[in-house]
Amino acid sequence: MARYRGPVCRLCRREGSKLFLKGDRCFSEKCSVDKRNYPPGQHGQGRTRFSDYGVQLREKQKVRRMYGLQEKQFARTMQRATRMRGRAGENLLQLLERRLDNVVFRLGFATSRSEARQLVRHGHFLVNGRPASIPSTLLKPGQTITLAQGSQEVARIAGALEALEGRSVPAWLEIDKESYQGTVKTLPVREDITLPIQEQLIVELYSR
Ligand code: SF4
Repeated sequence: MARYRGPVCRLCRREGSKLFLKGDRCFSEKCSVDKRNYPPGQHGQGRTRFSDYGVQLREKQKVRRMYGLQEKQFARTMQRATRMRGRAGENLLQLLERRLDNVVFRLGFATSRSEARQLVRHGHFLVNGRPASIPSTLLKPGQTITLAQGSQEVARIAGALEALEGRSVPAWLEIDKESYQGTVKTLPVREDITLPIQEQLIVELYSR
């Protein structure tokens, strides 16, 4: 699956909010959104007024970039969310949260979703004791995510777990640092997702 390889801070500046794509740097004073909070490019500092469509499009792009999905993959996830019971917007967020790369990030094994994605692709994790290297795998309640034995000494994973000290994982997940194992307790609900997302705008965009 293709992925974006360009400068990621530019994406945050385009969306005008922090998407937390660079791990620790996002919490430091080096964050580009804090330093230059205007869109990138020659006309970035000009006045920008968005149409309704523009507002919806920007919200979709923000969420898509936050979770590191390509356009088609995001559209497929939206289609699936629409077919599910309940509100399409909340279903969309739930499907995005349940992705293996996101869960690895949320459990604190990585400092960003892109790092989590790479760790998953490199085979550092087991799901229910079996190797899992597909970042888009959707996890269900009761499933466990374990760091492979040979990966417990990997410095960047150890560093990420250390950085997690004092921070809590979301209520729908559980982490046991001693055994390097996380568990999905329940499906995430809207209240568990504290990101500043207006999912209704994305639903409106796709129902045009
Ligand atoms: Fe976005 Fe992080 Fe870059 Fe700040 S440091 S602009 S939050 S990716």
